[in-house]
Amino acid sequence: MVYGGAATIDKVDSDILHKMQSFISSSNIFISNHAGARMFERGVSADDLITLITNGEIIEEYHDEYRCPAVLMLGPVRGIPHHIVVAICKDQLIIVTVYLPNEDEWSIIGGGNKMGPGECLLCRSKMREGTTEFIARVGGQVVVIKNIPAFVCPNCDEAYYSIDIQRKIDRIMKAFHEGKLLAKPLAAGEVDLLALDACQPYARAAIGDL
Ligand SMILES: [Zn+2]
Repeated sequence: MVYGGAATIDKVDSDILHKMQSFISSSNIFISNHAGARMFERGVSADDLITLITNGEIIEEYHDEYRCPAVLMLGPVRGIPHHIVVAICKDQLIIVTVYLPNEDEWSIIGGGNKMGPGECLLCRSKMREGTTEFIARVGGQVVVIKNIPAFVCPNCDEAYYSIDIQRKIDRIMKAFHEGKLLAKPLAAGEVDLLALDACQPYARAAIGDL
């Protein structure tokens, strides 16, 4: 038992481990659109994800932050340590996010700790079948993966898609990282907030006039 915060754990609940193993072996794994974008950027495939949650070490447990109990795990993907947050829900695992240990991630969003099947992990709205998209950056390129079949929250835009869909995304990811996929040019404006404090006179001058 750990007192004074959830930062460390002595012993992982065997029920959590058992449920995780069972969902992994039945491929009952859903990936959030946010986790999907981070995976795409780093070349983390469906198989890498499964290896990570199978062999990773649970270093933190969250009991109140999401609608289901969740764990923070640490494990390597091709030799590079990764953090992954996995929610263990009644009928499936949901991959909340994947990130590198030295990156800042958002704080865990507060709330209750129960989630029925088909409910949003964050706001508890009923998820609907639909499509989602995510934006990922690879090198200097920005890629938008659109029309991903997913369960989508009508309230907060959270979306989860299946490990089978991830395997399709893996093919795009591999081609993109190998420079074989020519993405259509994207019409988008980008403003660097840090540029306001730095040395981009044009950006600063233009924004200063607003
Ligand atoms: Zn929601």
